[in-house]
Amino acid sequence: MLRRSARAVTIVQSVVGLLLILTPTLLVWQHLGMTRVFEISPRHPYGVTVTDDRHEDGNSVATLVRSDDAFVMRCDLGAAYAWPFCKLQFHLGEAGKGMDFSQFDSITFNMRYAGPFGRKIRLHLTNFEPEFSRIGDWNSQRYDSVEFDVPAQSTFTIPVNVLRTADWWIASNHVPLEKTYSRFDNITAVEISTGSVPSGQSVSIEVRSIEFRGKWISNTKLLTYLVAAWIACGVFGLSLSLVHVRSNLSASNARVELLATINKALELEARDLANQAYTDPLTGALNRQGLREVLMKRLHVAGRVDEEMAVVFMDLDHFKRINDEYGHDAGDEVLKGFAGVIHGEVRSSDKLVRWGGEEFLLLCPETDVAHAVAMIEKLRTALSAQAWPHGLRVTSSFGVTSLKPDEDFGAAIKRADGALYRAKANGRDRVEIA
Ligand code: GH3
Ligand code: MG
Ligand code: MG
Repeated sequence: MLRRSARAVTIVQSVVGLLLILTPTLLVWQHLGMTRVFEISPRHPYGVTVTDDRHEDGNSVATLVRSDDAFVMRCDLGAAYAWPFCKLQFHLGEAGKGMDFSQFDSITFNMRYAGPFGRKIRLHLTNFEPEFSRIGDWNSQRYDSVEFDVPAQSTFTIPVNVLRTADWWIASNHVPLEKTYSRFDNITAVEISTGSVPSGQSVSIEVRSIEFRGKWISNTKLLTYLVAAWIACGVFGLSLSLVHVRSNLSASNARVELLATINKALELEARDLANQAYTDPLTGALNRQGLREVLMKRLHVAGRVDEEMAVVFMDLDHFKRINDEYGHDAGDEVLKGFAGVIHGEVRSSDKLVRWGGEEFLLLCPETDVAHAVAMIEKLRTALSAQAWPHGLRVTSSFGVTSLKPDEDFGAAIKRADGALYRAKANGRDRVEIA
């Protein structure tokens, strides 16, 4: 996860770096270059024709002469029509389906004008728009026009935005005001027409080339794309850093969890070690340190040992013989079995302590002597019912006393020990009360 997001960060950094280089480069290139040229000339003639006002009941006559490097329109303007004219037409595309000139912003002419009066010509770009235009009705196409004087030098440039939709076209098509702007997205023809020239004159217009120039991509469009790219990059980068933060968070969560697990294991181990310090490894009974801990805890909880507690001293009978006859290991087995029998019979609140060798102490809280004796009888029965190694018969002697509230524990042990001594003296496998 981390490695994957690190790779994504590298990608974002590369994209930002690329955008940093591309943005100024593209803007400068757009400003200085990225030029798109559309040329009309004898090399790129398109459908060139001439027309005149004879179909408007006039009598002007236009003729076309083509040479290797020019189109020449000769025009004899008649007087029959009120606004006599001749037209040189270049047809682009097909009927109703022209070319998109909206990206062009200038037109460069290489042309000559010869005539006795003035140097006026009209430039028309016809734009087919299904809303207004019908195929077969040429004048139903939008007329974007401009009239100007041809300069003396043969090469000159005019901006496209000087072309205006012709008033007669707006009027005859009932075009609403908001659609009277000039449009160049479906240009079907470029026309050069004679301007306002009195009848009876002859005019010659020689066109060597017409070049439409523009940018492959407009400044606005390029800026829009660049801004979109920057925004996309920013959004991607932001969501990536979010993923990064989240994966860091889950990694540190995992670390915390691991630490918690280790902590728990250490705690368990520490508790284990503490238990080991308080218990006798052979029998599982408490050792003397464990006894001290139990007594301390009771004092700590109660402030003092204020309830009655039975203290039982026990000592296995003739244990030395077992060792002598069957070995120390058998003796150990018997000790283990003895503690097992006692643990199985007493309450969980009773504490068995290995006092030393084959001597044990049993502390029974909230127990009076009578109940302790009854319990010892149960223990004696259980010991005799137990199956011992080598078919042994194992018995124990018991001395019982009651630890009075606030009494010194040592004194109670001494009393119990005395009672035990009497139990031994009186024949073993019995209980004596102090
Ligand atoms: P009594 O009935 O008078 O108590 O006789 P006894 O043989 O049980 O008494 P004594 O005190 O003479 O013998 C106790 C023996 O217990 C001596 C010692 O070797 C043995 N012993 C002490 N600790 C251990 C132990 O951890 N394992 C084994 N196997 N024997 C032990
Ligand atoms: Mg002994
Ligand atoms: Mg003994």
